[in-house]
Amino acid sequence: MEAFGEPIHVTRPFLPPYDQFCDGLKEIWDNRWLTNNGPIHQRFERRLAEYLRCANVALFNNGTLALQIGLQGLGISGEVITTPFSFVATTHALYWNRIRPVFVDIEPDYYTIDPSRVEAAITPWTTAILAVHVYGHPCDLDSLADIARRHELKLIYDAAHAFGVEVDGRSIGEFGDLSMFSFHATKTFHTLEGGMLVFPDPALKNTFEYLRNFGFQGEIEVVMPGTNAKMNEIQALMGESILPHMPAILAARRTIADRYWERLREIPGIHFPAQLPPTVEHNFSYMPIEVDATEFGMERDDLYGLLRRHNVFARRYFYPLICDYACYRGVRVNDPLPVARRVAGCILALPMYADLSLEAVDRICEITSEGSRI
Ligand SMILES: *Cc1c(COP(=O)(O)O)cnc(C)c1O
Repeated sequence: MEAFGEPIHVTRPFLPPYDQFCDGLKEIWDNRWLTNNGPIHQRFERRLAEYLRCANVALFNNGTLALQIGLQGLGISGEVITTPFSFVATTHALYWNRIRPVFVDIEPDYYTIDPSRVEAAITPWTTAILAVHVYGHPCDLDSLADIARRHELKLIYDAAHAFGVEVDGRSIGEFGDLSMFSFHATKTFHTLEGGMLVFPDPALKNTFEYLRNFGFQGEIEVVMPGTNAKMNEIQALMGESILPHMPAILAARRTIADRYWERLREIPGIHFPAQLPPTVEHNFSYMPIEVDATEFGMERDDLYGLLRRHNVFARRYFYPLICDYACYRGVRVNDPLPVARRVAGCILALPMYADLSLEAVDRICEITSEGSRI
């Protein structure tokens, strides 16, 4: 199989039609209002609340600061139980709040935090659970809610991957005390850079707005030591321009995922996460596969290298585990993390974005299939 002429990356940002975006820029030029809760920001916030059917949302300039502020606004301290199988920012948000991360294992079907391991890790210092809807797979929502209620813990979701996901007809943002969505350029829905908090308690809205704007309440009063995490008008415009395309984006991703499944299913040693229950509306934000080296005849890293030689840039999301990064190696981990370690060693995220052609998918699958025959 010949290499691709152009690099195929794991993702490629969706852009709205150029002319549509330029019309929006004209509005910004006319307004001369570039940031600080501008008119497009206000409109975009309302549209998102409608889209998600969640009353309380707050926008930020990125997901990491949104999560940091979310934890701060909820007053989380001490220890928080979290997953090592995520993007590193999940744990960084704890660290920046001087919270100790307690890493526990994931379950093997969807790679989300294992509720039984969460329960085993609770100590008198535990104040919250920070779970991740990794790849857009919903966590075990009922079990986590039950544990949080019984132990009086806050339940926080890193929903960075989960925009557009629904469970039983409800937006994934409706669960827990707080959910953070990332609108980074590489995510399914983006605002160039951006982030959002969704929360059931309307009283938190003011707190988050103070925290993202230096703590200002009005012109001459600062009520808390906030930071600068405001979304600007260009970001809001990008989001507003992409939002109407979401149904088409999600449909295209579904078609691509179906094609991958159809073509890769036949290859010995290539496995997928478990099928999601029919109650879940998925967003196909990533295309993770597990490579069983014995069955496949090649290690995950060798397949990764083979794809690279063909100009296909798959990514080892999520490897290494967060607790194995130099900056977190000093954190004591009591859970042996057997599932997380196994998955980190064999997972590979294949290219997935709305305008990836089915021909390209077929070629990626063909290269992969050649790997199994080497
Ligand atoms: C992307 C991502 C973040 C960080 O979001 P940014 O908007 O890039 O700051 C946090 N958690 C997870 C799981 C992510 O994938």
